Amino acid sequence: MADRIAAVRRRVAEAARTAVREPDDVVLTAVTKTQSDEALLEALAAGQRVFGENRVQEAQAHWTGRRGDHPDLELRLIGPLQTNKAADAVALFDVIETLDRPKLAEALAAAADKAGRAVRVLIQVNTGAEPQKAGILPEQADALIRHARDRGLIVEGLMCIPPADEAAGPHFALLRKIARRNGLKVLSMGMSGDFETAIRFGATHVRVGSALFGERKRPETSSRD
Ligand SMILES: *Cc1c(COP(=O)(O)O)cnc(C)c1O
Repeated sequence: MADRIAAVRRRVAEAARTAVREPDDVVLTAVTKTQSDEALLEALAAGQRVFGENRVQEAQAHWTGRRGDHPDLELRLIGPLQTNKAADAVALFDVIETLDRPKLAEALAAAADKAGRAVRVLIQVNTGAEPQKAGILPEQADALIRHARDRGLIVEGLMCIPPADEAAGPHFALLRKIARRNGLKVLSMGMSGDFETAIRFGATHVRVGSALFGERKRPETSSRD
Protein backbone atom coordinates (compact mmCIF):
# COMPACT_ATOMS: atom_id res chain seq x y z
CA MET A 1 0.00 0.00 0.00
CA ALA A 2 2.73 2.46 0.96
CA ASP A 3 4.47 1.69 -2.33
CA ARG A 4 1.32 2.22 -4.38
CA ILE A 5 0.60 5.53 -2.66
CA ALA A 6 4.18 6.63 -3.22
CA ALA A 7 3.98 5.64 -6.89
CA VAL A 8 0.77 7.63 -7.45
CA ARG A 9 2.27 10.59 -5.59
CA ARG A 10 5.29 10.45 -7.90
CA ARG A 11 3.02 10.48 -10.95
CA VAL A 12 1.08 13.43 -9.51
CA ALA A 13 4.30 15.33 -8.88
CA GLU A 14 5.65 14.54 -12.34
CA ALA A 15 2.42 15.69 -14.02
CA ALA A 16 2.52 18.89 -11.97
CA ARG A 17 6.10 19.63 -12.95
CA THR A 18 5.30 18.96 -16.62
CA ALA A 19 2.50 21.53 -16.32
CA VAL A 20 4.93 23.97 -14.66
CA ARG A 21 3.00 23.73 -11.41
CA GLU A 22 4.09 22.96 -7.87
CA PRO A 23 3.54 19.30 -6.87
CA ASP A 24 2.18 20.54 -3.52
CA ASP A 25 -0.59 22.39 -5.33
CA VAL A 26 -2.25 19.09 -6.21
CA VAL A 27 -3.96 17.16 -3.40
CA LEU A 28 -4.32 13.41 -3.72
CA THR A 29 -7.76 12.33 -2.50
CA ALA A 30 -7.73 8.57 -1.86
CA VAL A 31 -11.15 7.15 -2.75
CA THR A 32 -11.98 4.42 -0.23
CA LYS A 33 -15.50 3.40 -1.28
CA THR A 34 -15.90 -0.42 -1.13
CA GLN A 35 -12.53 -0.80 0.59
CA SER A 36 -11.90 -2.89 3.70
CA ASP A 37 -10.99 -1.45 7.07
CA GLU A 38 -7.61 -3.02 6.58
CA ALA A 39 -7.00 -1.00 3.41
CA LEU A 40 -8.03 2.19 5.23
CA LEU A 41 -5.65 1.47 8.08
CA GLU A 42 -2.81 0.75 5.68
CA ALA A 43 -3.41 4.02 3.86
CA LEU A 44 -3.46 5.91 7.17
CA ALA A 45 -0.27 4.17 8.26
CA ALA A 46 1.33 5.25 4.98
CA GLY A 47 0.54 8.88 5.83
CA GLN A 48 -2.48 9.40 3.57
CA ARG A 49 -4.91 11.85 5.20
CA VAL A 50 -7.35 13.07 2.52
CA PHE A 51 -10.07 10.57 1.65
CA GLY A 52 -13.10 10.54 -0.64
CA GLU A 53 -16.26 8.50 -0.14
CA ASN A 54 -19.35 8.37 -2.33
CA ARG A 55 -21.97 7.06 0.13
CA VAL A 56 -22.82 8.63 3.47
CA GLN A 57 -23.58 5.37 5.25
CA GLU A 58 -20.48 3.59 4.10
CA ALA A 59 -18.40 6.63 5.00
CA GLN A 60 -19.87 6.61 8.52
CA ALA A 61 -18.92 2.95 8.88
CA HIS A 62 -15.42 3.65 7.58
CA TRP A 63 -14.55 6.82 9.45
CA THR A 64 -16.67 7.39 12.56
CA GLY A 65 -14.34 7.52 15.54
CA ARG A 66 -11.13 7.77 13.54
CA ARG A 67 -10.55 11.48 14.02
CA GLY A 68 -9.40 10.82 17.57
CA ASP A 69 -6.27 9.13 16.31
CA HIS A 70 -5.97 11.32 13.21
CA PRO A 71 -7.09 14.89 13.88
CA ASP A 72 -5.66 15.95 10.52
CA LEU A 73 -8.00 13.63 8.62
CA GLU A 74 -9.93 15.29 5.78
CA LEU A 75 -13.08 13.58 4.50
CA ARG A 76 -14.66 14.59 1.22
CA LEU A 77 -18.05 13.44 -0.07
CA ILE A 78 -17.74 12.74 -3.79
CA GLY A 79 -21.02 10.90 -4.41
CA PRO A 80 -24.62 12.11 -4.85
CA LEU A 81 -26.34 13.37 -1.71
CA GLN A 82 -30.04 13.17 -0.81
CA THR A 83 -31.45 16.18 1.00
CA ASN A 84 -32.60 13.97 3.89
CA LYS A 85 -28.97 12.99 4.53
CA ALA A 86 -27.64 16.55 4.48
CA ALA A 87 -27.30 16.72 8.27
CA ASP A 88 -25.44 13.39 8.42
CA ALA A 89 -23.14 14.55 5.64
CA VAL A 90 -22.44 17.87 7.38
CA ALA A 91 -21.66 16.00 10.61
CA LEU A 92 -19.13 13.69 8.97
CA PHE A 93 -17.51 15.42 6.01
CA ASP A 94 -15.11 18.35 5.85
CA VAL A 95 -16.06 19.12 2.26
CA ILE A 96 -19.10 18.14 0.21
CA GLU A 97 -18.04 18.04 -3.45
CA THR A 98 -21.41 17.20 -4.95
CA LEU A 99 -23.70 20.18 -4.45
CA ASP A 100 -25.69 20.17 -7.69
CA ARG A 101 -29.12 21.70 -7.09
CA PRO A 102 -30.77 24.58 -5.20
CA LYS A 103 -32.80 22.29 -2.93
CA LEU A 104 -29.63 20.62 -1.70
CA ALA A 105 -28.05 24.03 -1.07
CA GLU A 106 -31.03 24.86 1.15
CA ALA A 107 -30.76 21.56 3.02
CA LEU A 108 -27.01 22.01 3.57
CA ALA A 109 -27.47 25.60 4.73
CA ALA A 110 -30.12 24.46 7.23
CA ALA A 111 -27.84 21.68 8.46
CA ALA A 112 -24.97 24.16 8.77
CA ASP A 113 -27.13 26.51 10.86
CA LYS A 114 -28.17 23.67 13.13
CA ALA A 115 -24.60 22.41 13.51
CA GLY A 116 -23.43 25.95 14.16
CA ARG A 117 -20.62 25.88 11.67
CA ALA A 118 -19.84 26.88 8.12
CA VAL A 119 -19.96 24.18 5.47
CA ARG A 120 -17.42 23.89 2.67
CA VAL A 121 -18.73 22.72 -0.69
CA LEU A 122 -17.81 22.22 -4.32
CA ILE A 123 -20.40 22.52 -7.06
CA GLN A 124 -20.61 19.39 -9.21
CA VAL A 125 -20.97 20.30 -12.87
CA ASN A 126 -22.35 17.83 -15.42
CA THR A 127 -19.92 19.02 -18.11
CA GLY A 128 -21.15 16.45 -20.62
CA ALA A 129 -24.84 17.24 -19.96
CA GLU A 130 -25.44 13.51 -19.55
CA PRO A 131 -29.08 12.87 -18.56
CA GLN A 132 -28.26 10.03 -16.15
CA LYS A 133 -25.47 11.87 -14.40
CA ALA A 134 -25.57 14.10 -11.34
CA GLY A 135 -24.32 17.68 -11.55
CA ILE A 136 -25.68 21.06 -12.53
CA LEU A 137 -25.67 21.88 -16.25
CA PRO A 138 -22.76 24.14 -17.24
CA GLU A 139 -25.07 27.03 -18.23
CA GLN A 140 -26.76 26.91 -14.80
CA ALA A 141 -23.55 26.69 -12.77
CA ASP A 142 -23.05 30.43 -12.20
CA ALA A 143 -26.57 30.78 -10.78
CA LEU A 144 -26.13 27.81 -8.43
CA ILE A 145 -22.78 29.17 -7.22
CA ARG A 146 -24.47 32.50 -6.41
CA HIS A 147 -27.38 30.73 -4.76
CA ALA A 148 -25.08 28.64 -2.54
CA ARG A 149 -23.05 31.70 -1.56
CA ASP A 150 -26.21 33.62 -0.74
CA ARG A 151 -27.20 30.77 1.58
CA GLY A 152 -23.90 31.13 3.47
CA LEU A 153 -22.19 28.02 2.13
CA ILE A 154 -18.46 28.28 1.53
CA VAL A 155 -18.13 27.54 -2.16
CA GLU A 156 -14.50 26.54 -2.65
CA GLY A 157 -14.62 25.27 -6.21
CA LEU A 158 -16.00 22.83 -8.74
CA MET A 159 -16.01 19.11 -9.37
CA CYS A 160 -16.76 17.06 -12.49
CA ILE A 161 -16.83 13.50 -13.81
CA PRO A 162 -16.41 13.63 -17.61
CA PRO A 163 -18.35 11.21 -19.85
CA ALA A 164 -16.65 7.81 -19.90
CA ASP A 165 -16.57 7.62 -23.69
CA GLU A 166 -15.10 11.03 -24.51
CA ALA A 167 -11.71 12.69 -24.25
CA ALA A 168 -11.61 14.25 -20.79
CA GLY A 169 -9.52 17.31 -21.68
CA PRO A 170 -12.31 19.53 -23.05
CA HIS A 171 -14.43 18.75 -19.97
CA PHE A 172 -11.60 19.70 -17.63
CA ALA A 173 -11.06 22.89 -19.64
CA LEU A 174 -14.75 23.78 -19.36
CA LEU A 175 -14.70 23.25 -15.58
CA ARG A 176 -11.64 25.48 -15.28
CA LYS A 177 -13.34 28.18 -17.33
CA ILE A 178 -16.45 28.18 -15.14
CA ALA A 179 -14.24 28.28 -12.01
CA ARG A 180 -12.21 31.23 -13.29
CA ARG A 181 -15.15 33.41 -14.16
CA ASN A 182 -16.58 32.78 -10.68
CA GLY A 183 -13.32 33.38 -8.83
CA LEU A 184 -13.07 29.78 -7.61
CA LYS A 185 -9.73 28.12 -6.89
CA VAL A 186 -10.47 24.45 -6.25
CA LEU A 187 -10.89 22.03 -9.15
CA SER A 188 -11.65 18.42 -8.21
CA MET A 189 -11.18 16.50 -11.43
CA GLY A 190 -9.30 13.46 -12.64
CA MET A 191 -9.55 9.82 -11.53
CA SER A 192 -7.22 6.82 -11.88
CA GLY A 193 -7.48 6.82 -15.66
CA ASP A 194 -7.02 10.51 -16.34
CA PHE A 195 -5.57 12.36 -13.35
CA GLU A 196 -2.43 13.36 -15.21
CA THR A 197 -4.53 15.03 -17.92
CA ALA A 198 -6.60 16.74 -15.22
CA ILE A 199 -3.46 18.14 -13.60
CA ARG A 200 -2.44 19.55 -16.97
CA PHE A 201 -5.80 21.38 -17.02
CA GLY A 202 -5.39 22.75 -13.51
CA ALA A 203 -6.80 20.12 -11.14
CA THR A 204 -6.12 20.99 -7.49
CA HIS A 205 -7.62 17.72 -6.23
CA VAL A 206 -7.45 14.36 -8.00
CA ARG A 207 -9.73 11.54 -6.81
CA VAL A 208 -7.92 8.24 -7.12
CA GLY A 209 -9.34 4.86 -6.15
CA SER A 210 -8.33 1.84 -8.18
CA ALA A 211 -4.78 3.02 -8.89
CA LEU A 212 -4.23 2.97 -5.12
CA PHE A 213 -6.37 0.08 -3.93
CA GLY A 214 -6.83 -2.15 -6.98
CA GLU A 215 -10.03 -2.77 -8.90
CA ARG A 216 -13.27 -2.51 -6.95
CA LYS A 217 -15.62 -5.48 -6.71
CA ARG A 218 -18.84 -3.50 -6.37
CA PRO A 219 -19.91 -1.97 -9.68
CA GLU A 220 -20.53 1.76 -9.98
CA THR A 221 -24.08 2.88 -9.34
CA SER A 222 -25.69 6.17 -10.10
CA SER A 223 -28.27 5.84 -7.32
CA ARG A 224 -28.33 8.57 -4.72
CA ASP A 225 -27.26 7.44 -1.29
C1 LIG B 1 -15.01 5.96 -7.55
C2 LIG B 1 -14.79 7.38 -7.84
C3 LIG B 1 -13.50 7.86 -8.12
C4 LIG B 1 -12.27 6.98 -8.19
O1 LIG B 1 -12.29 6.23 -9.36
P1 LIG B 1 -11.02 5.38 -9.84
O2 LIG B 1 -11.22 5.26 -11.29
O3 LIG B 1 -11.12 4.09 -9.10
O4 LIG B 1 -9.82 6.14 -9.47
C5 LIG B 1 -13.37 9.22 -8.35
N1 LIG B 1 -14.43 10.06 -8.32
C6 LIG B 1 -15.68 9.63 -8.05
C7 LIG B 1 -16.78 10.60 -8.03
C8 LIG B 1 -15.89 8.28 -7.81
O5 LIG B 1 -17.15 7.86 -7.56
